[in-house]
Amino acid sequence: MARILFTGPLGHGHVNPTLGIAQELTARGHAVAYAAPEPFEAAIAQTGAEFVPLRSSWLNSPQHAAPQFHGRAFARASELALAETIHMTGQFDALRARGRLARPDVLVHDGPVAWWGRAVGHGWQVPTVETWPNFVSNRHWNMQRYIRLNPLDPVFLRFLWRLRRFLRTRGISGVGGFMQGAGAVERIVTVPRAFQPAGETFGSGYTFTGPVLTDRSHQGSWSPPAASEGLPVLLVSLGTAYHDRPDFFRMIAQSAAGRPWHVVMSIGDTVDPAALGTLPANVEAHPQVPQLSVLEHASVFLTHAGMGGTVEGMAAGVPLVAVPQMAEQRANADRIAELGLGRTLDPDSLEAEGFWTTVEAVRADPVIAGRCAWMREEIRTSGGASAAADAVEAAAARGLG
Ligand code: UDP
Repeated sequence: MARILFTGPLGHGHVNPTLGIAQELTARGHAVAYAAPEPFEAAIAQTGAEFVPLRSSWLNSPQHAAPQFHGRAFARASELALAETIHMTGQFDALRARGRLARPDVLVHDGPVAWWGRAVGHGWQVPTVETWPNFVSNRHWNMQRYIRLNPLDPVFLRFLWRLRRFLRTRGISGVGGFMQGAGAVERIVTVPRAFQPAGETFGSGYTFTGPVLTDRSHQGSWSPPAASEGLPVLLVSLGTAYHDRPDFFRMIAQSAAGRPWHVVMSIGDTVDPAALGTLPANVEAHPQVPQLSVLEHASVFLTHAGMGGTVEGMAAGVPLVAVPQMAEQRANADRIAELGLGRTLDPDSLEAEGFWTTVEAVRADPVIAGRCAWMREEIRTSGGASAAADAVEAAAARGLG
């Protein structure tokens, strides 16, 4: 039995993909603890892991609202990530000093955001495994082409200076290596290798598991209403963060009137339903929908191309229409189009006729249907929770070598 400690940030898209891995390791008899911000308590408890509450400096912070992650916005987001890293690292040290956290055999942490995992792993001298819920980068393919950061931007230079100062207090010298997570013994990428650009160029140290989906019965289930019996279903979602687009939802709702579709919209918790106008009989709008359940019935998924929704749509074999809202989603959307899994639209120049023409075309396209079936099979054979748990076990057994 190994002692395994997980940690993740205040971000559903970063914690949710790891829950199935924690659950699998618990089921295998390991002692699993998961340190995360308090909003995740119930979801983590459900995995069987021991929940260790962390306080996030981002909770209720307007600055954290949906950062854009390109150019200067990326530099600002990096500053916020560093502030959270310093805050969280201090909490880990305090928990350990109070005997509340034992030294684990392996620390599993979110790679893109929870940088404190790198600092704590180095300080405690434990091997770290990073979980990546989105694309990883190497010299063949790099997210920088979407982030377009100017390395001489004063905000970014200030961030680097502060990072270097923090790392010195932890006895870490290489800023570049820290930013790349070079100290990790393994990276678990919860994306199928076939979807990762240049996927074949990522060798040892990378385990592509595909999505690790867990039971979502707490969200309830969905089935088409009797009045829409037999109509194709269009699921519309901009995810949990980038959804403050009342005009976008209104355009879709109003233009759906009289069309042979049933439309299910997840509008999030910021858009006032009244802003959508009176909904046509074939449209429903909710702050949140049981997405996996709706996807079982969907003919097309209109998605902001967040990686969570994208892989869920692909796992269900549903053709995608992507309307990306920020840099990482543009990378996903481009890959969707490149692999023929659907099409991409520019959310800012979207008008009703062009939108519906695309939705109809994507639904009717046999080539897209074939590609979606191919990707669904790729995901089915990607290894999922079992492959991820194997990788964590191997890292725990190897130690720091
Ligand atoms: N989700 C859901 N119901 C909704 C909207 C989103 O269950 O109405 C889930 C979705 O299944 C996915 C996650 O929330 O697992 C959103 O992650 P994604 O990466 O797609 O987008 P983000 O919210 O991180 O931008």
